[in-house]
Amino acid sequence: MKNLVLYSPPAAGKGTLCEFLKSNYGYEVLSIGQVLRNNRSMDTEVGRKIIETQDKGILTPDYIVAEALENELKKFEGKNIVIEGYPRNIDQARMLDTIFDNYIVINLAVSRKVAMERTLGRVSCKKCGKIYNIFNDSMKPKIENICDVCGETLEIRSDDNENSFNVRYDIYEQNSPSILDFYESKGILNIVNAENSKEIIANDVKSVLGE
Ligand SMILES: [Zn+2]
Repeated sequence: MKNLVLYSPPAAGKGTLCEFLKSNYGYEVLSIGQVLRNNRSMDTEVGRKIIETQDKGILTPDYIVAEALENELKKFEGKNIVIEGYPRNIDQARMLDTIFDNYIVINLAVSRKVAMERTLGRVSCKKCGKIYNIFNDSMKPKIENICDVCGETLEIRSDDNENSFNVRYDIYEQNSPSILDFYESKGILNIVNAENSKEIIANDVKSVLGE
């Protein structure tokens, strides 16, 4: 089976897909945030540079992130890996290409409008953790703003506001044309329509994997 890079806009359903790949195919999921945290806790030059840049609040340079990722990839040799949250720009895509073998790319495609509804419509129950979406008929609570399971009042996630969503989607839109072109020219790009139902997405991903 091929290694994977998941490259997607915000709210495309990456988390759900990662779970699917883990439980159905035994993929190891490498999220770049976790990779940096793991390297941060190691007493190495890369670890020290990550601490230095993150503590100053500046972006960790691409070559350091790539080194951190390379360290982490070594731990999982022989396993099927899915990388998510990386690359974020074309330089990172090119760098990743030099350290990652035998991979294909899945782009979960979702329009800004749908991604925004998913993000801004998300409400959750703080008591039982159930997640709802007020813009999605199959995910709406039965009674407005009340948890179906425990009757608790639902709350909006604080980081789900329109501004921060737009910033994240803008970054994706600025970087995605060159990244997708790069993967397309290598013949490894697979676009999956993430606006479909979970079942259709799962089937599409299965056929991408050749299953
Ligand atoms: Zn509840």
